[in-house]
Amino acid sequence: MTISGSITADALTKDSTFVQYTERNSGNMGEMDVSGGSSFSLGEDQRAVQDLVRRVATERVAKRASEIDRTAEYPQDMFDLLRELGLLTLPFPPEFGGSNSLLSSCVAIEELGRVCYNTAYLLLVQWTPIGGILAGGTEEQKQRLLPGLANGTLRAGFSLTEPQSGSDVSGIRTRAKRDGSGYRLSGNKIWCTNAAVSDFILVAARSGEEERGAINFFIVDRGMKGFEIGRKEDKLGARGVPSSALFFDNVYIPPENMLGREGEGFKNVMEALNASRPLIAARGVGLAQGAMDLAAEFVSNRQAFGQSVSDFQGVRWMLADMAIGVDAARLLTYRAAAMIDAGAKGPEMARAAAVAKCFASDTAMKVATDAVQLFGAAGISNEYPINRYFRDAKVLQIIEGTNQIQRNIIARTMLGSTKRKV
Ligand SMILES: Cc1cc2nc3c(=O)[nH]c(=O)nc-3n(C[C@H](O)[C@H](O)[C@H](O)COP(=O)(O)OP(=O)(O)OC[C@H]3O[C@@H](n4cnc5c(N)ncnc54)[C@H](O)[C@@H]3O)c2cc1C
Repeated sequence: MTISGSITADALTKDSTFVQYTERNSGNMGEMDVSGGSSFSLGEDQRAVQDLVRRVATERVAKRASEIDRTAEYPQDMFDLLRELGLLTLPFPPEFGGSNSLLSSCVAIEELGRVCYNTAYLLLVQWTPIGGILAGGTEEQKQRLLPGLANGTLRAGFSLTEPQSGSDVSGIRTRAKRDGSGYRLSGNKIWCTNAAVSDFILVAARSGEEERGAINFFIVDRGMKGFEIGRKEDKLGARGVPSSALFFDNVYIPPENMLGREGEGFKNVMEALNASRPLIAARGVGLAQGAMDLAAEFVSNRQAFGQSVSDFQGVRWMLADMAIGVDAARLLTYRAAAMIDAGAKGPEMARAAAVAKCFASDTAMKVATDAVQLFGAAGISNEYPINRYFRDAKVLQIIEGTNQIQRNIIARTMLGSTKRKV
């Protein structure tokens, strides 16, 4: 089956009227406006993306989802499909062929996530490095890396986590020592998603002369001498996109591969991460919607005590609660994406992004858990797809900052920092 036509240039052009977000003064966190101006909806362009991706997801992606999960093999065919459709370009600025719309990007991820978490993940990993490069990269780095990420000729990873430090980013030990005008990188990383297929990876390391040094990001190209990628993790969920350990043994990093000025890289990249949290939230929304749809279909076709299971009030209320959660998660996610598209930054954005990520992934976990329950024993059997949703949902509560860390971010905007580290 062929998909007639890829996304048109018009559909990829950001509709600036879809959001009327008014930036308000957020100086006092107690009175922070996190309404996002309260007015946003999907515009014509987002609807075009939604229609196309929903059709492709149903016709092409859904039938591959279980196999990708079972074999845990990288779905190159799905990557090629996303590339052919022009979907990789969605969040990029127009000069790199994109629409500069995080809301459109969220819609695409949501639609893929309804049927296949792993295919939605392909978009997400492709997009994770963009914010850091745009925020801290030189013009030369942007020209070298962004067009390839947008057209799919380059793939990348983003590496912060180390064996002794995940949530506590300040605990990283990978070190970048000055060597002439460049650096020498030494240390280990774990859980770098996409590393096995990446052309380059943004790697966090400590640099500078002081004992601990500031955290900066370095562009590590595949094949650099002393750089090795370890075996891939055997995972509970998110199985189709590999996560691997990385090893750096005195790897020479030329000056043109330092991302941002020394001492500034970390702040830039962490700010950029605010922009990728709505994408994780969108994957939660899609997953929850998909699990709910499957549960509704199953109980409608299943009989017990001489009636359809969907006629028991207790079951109907479970489904209604799922729908309430999915609706709320979607609105929070679209709000956060619309705020990013309108240029929101700082604590206000950090809070809205954390709220969306936390609520949408907690909703995905709850909906998937209840959906497995409604399937009964069939929910435990690998003959049915629902347990895949359950396993993938758990990943969402952990990645890009666990949901405890999201709650810490939210509480900080309300109460300020604690004296003790949280
Ligand atoms: C599928 C997958 C893909 C990943 N991909 C990447 C990637 O591409 N790049 C990358 O760099 N990393 C990646 N990670 C790693 C991920 O970002 C970390 O696992 C995550 O940040 C949590 O770190 P940790 O596992 O070390 O848990 P820890 O930080 O050790 O936390 C353990 C527990 O303590 C809780 N906790 C910790 N600190 C606090 C606190 N202050 N307050 C309350 N609770 C707290 C945590 O929430 C958690 O429940 C990936 C992980 C997974 C599972």
